[in-house]
Amino acid sequence: MPAVVDPIVVTSARGVRLTLSDGTEVIDGMSSWWAAIHGYRHPVLDEAVRSQLGDMAHVMFGGVTHHPAVELAETLVDIAPAGLEHVFLADSGSVSVEVAIKMALQYARGVGRSERTRLLTVRGGYHGDTLGCMSVCDPVNGMHSMFTGMLPEQIFAPVPSPNFGEKFDDSHVAEFADLLAARSAEIAAVIIEPVVQGAGGMRFYSSDYLRAVRRLCDEHEVPLIADEIATGFGRSGELFGCDHADVSPDIMCAGKALTGGYLTMAAAFRASPVHHAALRIERGRHPNRGFGHG
Ligand SMILES: *Cc1c(COP(=O)(O)O)cnc(C)c1O
Repeated sequence: MPAVVDPIVVTSARGVRLTLSDGTEVIDGMSSWWAAIHGYRHPVLDEAVRSQLGDMAHVMFGGVTHHPAVELAETLVDIAPAGLEHVFLADSGSVSVEVAIKMALQYARGVGRSERTRLLTVRGGYHGDTLGCMSVCDPVNGMHSMFTGMLPEQIFAPVPSPNFGEKFDDSHVAEFADLLAARSAEIAAVIIEPVVQGAGGMRFYSSDYLRAVRRLCDEHEVPLIADEIATGFGRSGELFGCDHADVSPDIMCAGKALTGGYLTMAAAFRASPVHHAALRIERGRHPNRGFGHG
């Protein structure tokens, strides 16, 4: 559905350039929303797609798998922050966030805390456009008022501060800490974009804030979900945003640059304790089944 302004028609692309239907060349300064990080028509990626098509395009992961998927998952585990050992491939960033939320809820049930059903996050965030994701996007930018009564009600702390590189002290995280302390009995997880709030406003905040969030989550035994969909794969100067703070989340989402913009695909990672606690629930309900997301 076209917006107010008619969209620009692209006929081909190479490197950083898009060729438009009237022959004009423009530089795509946002790399198809931060996905095409290696440029368009990259020879290595083009060849990988071509050669894979000679074997098969795709098969479902319901009860079957294939070597490229296994290799990808192993590579992701190798490069991800320490402790994230289990990978669930999803079809978009938003879906990986839904998956991450479900993992957190199942973890809460797995450790006997089924009353923990809410998420704590910060204002100014963006986590995707499906309904669960929308509930943790910034309430104003995310237009929550349009969906009142429909979205789950989550808990919001102020926008993270100070800015990246500025001096942090505990007062910056005080309100977040108070909310977590007061309401931890109902909080299944904290979800945050590490170090950079991307689509919500390109705000770069202190890695010490993120480190404090990690510490507070540990104190209250609340899992931390890092949404690395925008920040993953070197977009902020470290391989993952969490690497700036030297922290590992319990659950992590990656997407966008993951496929260099060639496919819509994302990944949700979880650490072993989350994995094993959640499996108790998953296996209990469905013997021989893993995480319940089709
Ligand atoms: C883009 C983005 C998403 C949503 O990913 P989609 O693949 O567009 O569904 C979620 N979280 C963050 C931080 C993002 O930048």
